[in-house]
Amino acid sequence: MASHIVETLLVLSVIIFLQLQTTKGEEEGDTPIGRFQQYLRFKTAHPNPNYTAPVSFLVHQAQSIGLTTRTLEYVKGKPVLVVTWLGSKPQLPSILLNSHLDSVPAEADKWIHPPFSAHRTLDGGGLIYARGAQDDKCIGVQYLESIRNLKSTGFLPIRTLHISYVPDEEIGGFDGMAKFAASSDFRDLNVGFALDEGQANPGDEFRVFFADRTPWELVITARGVPGHGAKLYDNGAMENLMKSVELISRFRETQFDFVKAGKAANSEVISVNPVYLKAGTPSNTGFVMNMQPSEAEAGYDLRLPPMDDPHLIKKRIAEEWAPSIRNMTYTIKEKGKLRDHLGRPIMTATNGSNPWWSVFKQAVEATGGKLAKPEILASTTDARYIRTLGIPLLGFSPMINTPILLHDHNEFLKDTVFLKGIQVYESVISALSSFEGVSAQMI
Ligand SMILES: [Zn+2]
Repeated sequence: MASHIVETLLVLSVIIFLQLQTTKGEEEGDTPIGRFQQYLRFKTAHPNPNYTAPVSFLVHQAQSIGLTTRTLEYVKGKPVLVVTWLGSKPQLPSILLNSHLDSVPAEADKWIHPPFSAHRTLDGGGLIYARGAQDDKCIGVQYLESIRNLKSTGFLPIRTLHISYVPDEEIGGFDGMAKFAASSDFRDLNVGFALDEGQANPGDEFRVFFADRTPWELVITARGVPGHGAKLYDNGAMENLMKSVELISRFRETQFDFVKAGKAANSEVISVNPVYLKAGTPSNTGFVMNMQPSEAEAGYDLRLPPMDDPHLIKKRIAEEWAPSIRNMTYTIKEKGKLRDHLGRPIMTATNGSNPWWSVFKQAVEATGGKLAKPEILASTTDARYIRTLGIPLLGFSPMINTPILLHDHNEFLKDTVFLKGIQVYESVISALSSFEGVSAQMI
């Protein structure tokens, strides 16, 4: 009898223990914050991002709320996940919400919590530390969480809504969004308007981006006769290169002056920054010091805002920075376009000419939020591949009162900011997907 009681007690305590475990698991896993933490724990950093595990996690999440999923693969091992919520009028152009699966690397020893632990501070105000917390796993989860909430209220979209999760954004997107955007799969989505990642704001207004700058890699080379170090030559390679370096520096200063005077944002001017200089005749101990080299080279990183004329800057390079009359040559590697297929600057209008803009703006304001003055992003994102097609796209990650920590050590996002973002997307998604004003792609 006694042993029976002991046995029963044992069984009971095992059951209670298991239940406690489940409750603990539910707290972690089955809440928006818990799902965010789970997504953050996948090791998606370059150079070896794990794409399989986060994709199956997202597929599971999407299917559990009744969305359909499709995994496409343009390059082996680099999946593009498309999640779809069918609208009642699927013939209307759809809404696309994009985010990337990958993250930049993290130097674990420089972090106060391991970068893939998604540790949430309880004493310090609910800060969730993880690589990707801001860039951009937050939006990847917020898209799904806001749809989960909208579905629970019985909301039905008129337009079809797609979410895309793409690989390799952090290394240029060439095997990810570039291929996806060029595919017939993408064309078939009939996207009318898209959202992609933005950036945090330490202030209290949501930032929104209407264009990316386009990067060019410029290499200028000067050639001349090699000569004795003691002689004064005219038209030497070094002399010619230094002349160009000075001219480029002066141009850089005039652009920078606009920024310093408050007339333009950093991302609204052409930046041209020297990245390397290569010259000299190597010796066993360094360089031959009594010889003037026959060749000298300099590399520059150029970033051009969409409204600048690419022909004008090319003319300047050909005539001033690397003119053939000074024995100079140059190469430009354009890492993106400045004009779309109809010759228009690649940017999304943020005024009355773009009906999507006012729908978006009003939806953000309906949550009590304020939008900051629309900006050009100083760097680039996958947005450029979609805007190039003529599809209007805004860069937007709803993070206010948050330091800008993308690619930094100790990247974090506060739990309440993450949760507020879900509400903002609920408003934005319901407004965009209910908007019937545009019946054809505006491209
Ligand atoms: Zn990003």
